[in-house]
Amino acid sequence: MRDVARAAGTPTFVYSATSIRDAYRDYDFAFGELPHTICYAVKANSTLAVLRLLVELGAGFDIVSGGELYRVLQAGADPARVVFSGVGKRAHEIEYALLSGIHSFNCESESELGVLDEIAGRLGVRARFALRINPDVDASTHPYISTGLTEHKFGIGIQHAEGVYVRSRHYRNISAEGISCHIGSQMLDPAPMVEAAEKVLHLAAHLIGQGHDLRHLDLGGGLGIAYHPGDAAPDKKQFLDSLRDRLAASGLAILIEPGRSIVGQAGMLLTEVLYRKSNGAKQFVIVDAAMNDLIRPALYQSHHEILPVDRSDEISIVDVVGPVCESGDFFARGRAVAGARVGDYMALAAAGAYGFVQSSNYNSRPRAAEVLVDGDRWRVVRERESYADLVRGETM
Ligand SMILES: *Cc1c(COP(=O)(O)O)cnc(C)c1O
Repeated sequence: MRDVARAAGTPTFVYSATSIRDAYRDYDFAFGELPHTICYAVKANSTLAVLRLLVELGAGFDIVSGGELYRVLQAGADPARVVFSGVGKRAHEIEYALLSGIHSFNCESESELGVLDEIAGRLGVRARFALRINPDVDASTHPYISTGLTEHKFGIGIQHAEGVYVRSRHYRNISAEGISCHIGSQMLDPAPMVEAAEKVLHLAAHLIGQGHDLRHLDLGGGLGIAYHPGDAAPDKKQFLDSLRDRLAASGLAILIEPGRSIVGQAGMLLTEVLYRKSNGAKQFVIVDAAMNDLIRPALYQSHHEILPVDRSDEISIVDVVGPVCESGDFFARGRAVAGARVGDYMALAAAGAYGFVQSSNYNSRPRAAEVLVDGDRWRVVRERESYADLVRGETM
C-alpha cells in the first residue's frame, strides 16, 4: 500500500483481484450442481478492470442503466448473460438492451411491460422478462438500502403479481421468462432473503401450474459483508443450503445478483494524513480523502475500519475527517486509530463496493485513482482526474 501511495498518489482506491475471484468462486461453489448464473450487480463497482476480471470468471451481469450496459459490453461481457433491473428504465435504454441481445428484463410495473412490448414490436424482436416481486419482507437493514416492503417503490406487490403475468399474455412481443426479487442490501442475517425466496418459489410453482412458462428464478443480491470487526458475513454455502432442495425441486434455473459481497472486502481507500489539530478536548485527523470519494459514512452512517499503513503504534482517540466543507464529511468519530502522524498513509477498509461509484466532484475535487493488485503486481486501472476533466463539456 505504501508503494502504491507513493507511486499513484492519494486518495486512491486499491482493489485485490484475488479477493474478487475468491468471492465469485465461493458463490459458484455454493451453488454446486444447481443450474445457476451469478449476475454480478454492476452498480456496486463498475470499473472496467473489475468487470473484466468477472467476465474472465464467466460471470453474468445485473445492470440498472444503459450506461452500465455500455460498460459491461466494453469489458467483453456476453450480452446473453445480462439482466436489466431498475424501476425507471428509459425507452432508449430498453432499445439499446434489446438491440444488444440481453437475456431478460426485470420489470417492476405493468406500464413498463407496455413500453417493453411497444419497443420490442417496433424493433421486430421478442423481449423476455421476469417480474420483480415485492414480497413484503423486512430486510432489517439501513432504511436507504431496504427495498422489499410494500412502502418501497420497488417491484410488484406479491398479491398483484399473478394478475400481471396473466395480462402480460395479451402483449404480442414479450414473454414471461422468469420471476425475481431483491429485498435490500447489507444483510448480515440471510433469513429475510430465505423468507423472500420461499414466498417467490411458492408463487412460481403456482404460476407454472397455471401454465406460465417460467424458466428462471432470480434471488437478487443483498448478502452483507463484515464492516465492523465484530460482524460475521453470512456464509454463502449455508444460505444456499437452506434453500437447495426447494430450488432444485422448482426445476428453475437460478440467478443471483450479488454486488457488495463480491467486491466490498476487495477494496480499500488509501489516504494520507494532512494535518492534526484539536478543538478543546476533541482531536482531529484531517486526511486527503473526503465524502466525495467515499460517501458511505455520511449517507448510511456506515463504519469503515481505518488501518495504519506506516506504523501500528501511537494509538489515539480521534475524529478522522476530510477536507470537504461539510460537518458530515467524516470517516470516524471518537475512534482509536494507530499511526496517524502527519504524512502517514492510512487505509479505509471494505471500500470496494458503493465507494468509487458513488464518488462525485463536490468541492471541485478530481475523482480518485483506482489501482488493481494481482498477486505481487499492481497497476493503475483508472487515472486520477485532472482539473481539465473537471470542466470537460462545460461552456461559458
Ligand atoms: C443493488 C442491487 C443488487 C446488489 O445488491 P448487493 O447488496 O450489493 O448484493 C442486486 N439486485 C438489484 C436489483 C439491486 O438493485
